[in-house]
Amino acid sequence: MNNCIFCDIIEKIIPSKILYEDDLCLVFEDIAPQAPTHILSIPKNHIEKISDMKQTDKSLIGHLVYSLKKIASQKNLSEDGYRIVINCGELGGQMVDHLHVHLLAGRQMNWPPG
Ligand code: AMP
Repeated sequence: MNNCIFCDIIEKIIPSKILYEDDLCLVFEDIAPQAPTHILSIPKNHIEKISDMKQTDKSLIGHLVYSLKKIASQKNLSEDGYRIVINCGELGGQMVDHLHVHLLAGRQMNWPPG
């Protein structure tokens, strides 16, 4: 996909702090962390947003969430807890048009979110 910053991160054209990678996903640190731990899991194939998700993508989305759960366990974040977020579209606050799942941890999260 042309002009996609996350596709460039997958291709290693743009550097990132990679925490985990496999055939389906890449997990890396967010460049502008909103919590002491803020990481992103993205699919290697370009899906713009969660509303574009197809039935055949169900296991892929589970894989993205599971990749974050594994990193959270390794970082001993499970007991204190964390937040997993997917922003979708303009009103959802999505800034990068390549589907990504956020994991935020290390501070008290508020509800409702801003
Ligand atoms: P969203 O608002 O859900 O689209 O979130 C996009 C996220 O991508 C933000 O938290 C950004 O800080 C993050 N981000 C943008 N560019 C980069 C980058 N080059 N490396 C790591 N994270 C990035």
